[in-house]
Amino acid sequence: MVGLLADKVAIVTGSSRGIGKAAALALADVGAKIVVNYASSSHSAQEVVSEIIANGGEAIAFQADVSNATEVDDMIKASMEKFGRIDVLVNNAGITRDTLLLRMKPEDWQAVIDLNLTGVFLCTRAVSKIMLKQRSGRIINISSVAGLMGNPGQANYSAAKAGVIGFTKTVAKELAPRGVTANVVAPGFIATDMTGDLKNTEEILKYIPLARYGQPEEVAGLIRFLAADPAAAYITGQVMNVDGGMVMH
Ligand code: NAD
Repeated sequence: MVGLLADKVAIVTGSSRGIGKAAALALADVGAKIVVNYASSSHSAQEVVSEIIANGGEAIAFQADVSNATEVDDMIKASMEKFGRIDVLVNNAGITRDTLLLRMKPEDWQAVIDLNLTGVFLCTRAVSKIMLKQRSGRIINISSVAGLMGNPGQANYSAAKAGVIGFTKTVAKELAPRGVTANVVAPGFIATDMTGDLKNTEEILKYIPLARYGQPEEVAGLIRFLAADPAAAYITGQVMNVDGGMVMH
């Protein structure tokens, strides 16, 4: 896969750590110039940029809250000014505000919908204008098994992640005539900061046939395939799980 994305440009939202960071490094590995988006951790984002540059790649860090339309537009503008094109968008930024439905405050609901669903809409809308003009592009949206099967304590998160699936299928249909694909990657339990403070690990492992958490790099491998491999040009509107077998369609 070496050089498959040479001269191509990828934006990965929330890529200062976790799955986003692994995706940024994996795409840089196959030659893409990377926009490392972050909300507040400028030091970590800069470290990802430095790692890419140390490996012979090109990258910039860009601060933008992807639930904010103006900040998203500024990020896309800056990416175009710096690199002149956008070939891959990975909508990865996400948060949780877990609590049972009866205790869930409207602000817990709204914060998760604003970032995990509206943020995906804002970035996709902004980038699709450019991809349509280019007549090529690959959009990869990160959902979750919670969006497919539900998860107690995650009504807000599951709704947003299920929304991402419906959204992506529509985008796939709208953009297909110009050769732009859109797919969903739905991870199960991946070892990142997001799952770092889960306490019922033993209980969780009972539901994972492969009986372990996944690694960010294992999710990044599928993202890289969808973003870079010529064979992925004929895959659009699909939901693909990286979950140790938790969900079997
Ligand atoms: P993480 O918490 O390590 O990373 C999330 C990233 O999003 C961070 O870099 C954070 O700074 C960024 N972010 C937060 N708010 C932002 C904002 N307003 N604007 C821009 N960036 C923002 O979590 P992760 O596990 O790496 O999760 C990455 C994605 O994968 C998320 O969408 C998450 O929902 C999804 N996911 C994770 C798991 C898992 O088990 N870890 C499972 C399924 C889905």
